[in-house]
Amino acid sequence: MRRMLSLAGALCAAAVFVTGQTPKGSQSDGALGNRPGATREPEFPSPSIRDYKPRTTLVVPQHPVPRARFPVVDLHSHQPMPISAGQFDTVAAAMDHLNLQVLVNASGASGTRLVDALGAIRASRHRNRMVMFANISFRDVGPGFGEKAARQLEADVKAGALGLGEIMKDFGLHAKKADGSRLHLDDPELSPIWEAAGRLRIPVLIHTAEPQEFFEPLDMRNERWLELALYANRRYPADRFPRFEELVAERNRLFKAHPGTTFIAAHFGWHANDLARLGRLLDEMPNVYVETGAILAELGRQPRAAHDFFVKYQDRVLFGKDSYQPDEYPYFWRTFETGDEYFDYYRDYHAFWKLYGMQLPDGVLRKLYYQNAVKLVPGLRALGLR
Ligand SMILES: [Zn+2]
Repeated sequence: MRRMLSLAGALCAAAVFVTGQTPKGSQSDGALGNRPGATREPEFPSPSIRDYKPRTTLVVPQHPVPRARFPVVDLHSHQPMPISAGQFDTVAAAMDHLNLQVLVNASGASGTRLVDALGAIRASRHRNRMVMFANISFRDVGPGFGEKAARQLEADVKAGALGLGEIMKDFGLHAKKADGSRLHLDDPELSPIWEAAGRLRIPVLIHTAEPQEFFEPLDMRNERWLELALYANRRYPADRFPRFEELVAERNRLFKAHPGTTFIAAHFGWHANDLARLGRLLDEMPNVYVETGAILAELGRQPRAAHDFFVKYQDRVLFGKDSYQPDEYPYFWRTFETGDEYFDYYRDYHAFWKLYGMQLPDGVLRKLYYQNAVKLVPGLRALGLR
């Protein structure tokens, strides 16, 4: 703070610092208010944010990482169910290049669909490269639903499912009870399911809410403006949907109510933009873990904070990617493994910024890439991962 004040004093302009209007620890909007020439207008029409893609003139060392340094379990993948022999050949060929050892098919199935999906994996030439999680459809939840779903989960685990999930974002955002009301994440009717998962020693991969900007007005201050403008179904206006904080509070109550059950919050629980907050959550709830699906751009814009977080919580972070796009994995390897600066991210509507590498130590990388997954999903050991 002293450094900020002296900076502000030197510039005689940053009222935002001096009056303390910026909450501690958050970012200002970067404007210095009365800068000379601030009212000047461009002489030419401004490009749109889609048009303006300047080439960088920065010259710094480049270390692309096409193949992960250690074997990787992708704990959050989505694959066809059942997968055909041809589809699996294509998937496995790409996995070999990336050093992806095992994909967890978190599309998740139950009953005969699960048995068929498992059968296709076992009959394939790549039976050690994919595992299945079970899933539950939260439709028309009423009295008795939880007990019945718990019994089905037990049967699914007996059939070979190694976890439960991905419990999708619909749970919380869309799912309704039989009486028409919104199904809350911590509805006690569902308790038998979470308790069964604890008893069966399987993790529950759960996706709750969406990035917090998806719940905010679509205006020029929204960090995900482009994505929200492109995808109407990613907007969650207050008049039709619960708020981000409401969903997060329900989720946290659920986690706390079942301390004997292991939960993996997908997408870093959508707190990758506030790692201090996520750290407090992990401190408070030892049964909670997080995976990295779809939040790389958040990590890559705060490489030092992210590095420290991954070191401190090295036993609680798992690698997950979500959508299976082989050419996107190397961006993750590069961000985790190198100290490269200012390199491209792959999706302009997630991030209008560049990424920086976190330079994680080998011991942390091993835990992130596979060791923590093997700890939470013991069935992976049978596939040769230690
Ligand atoms: Zn997913």
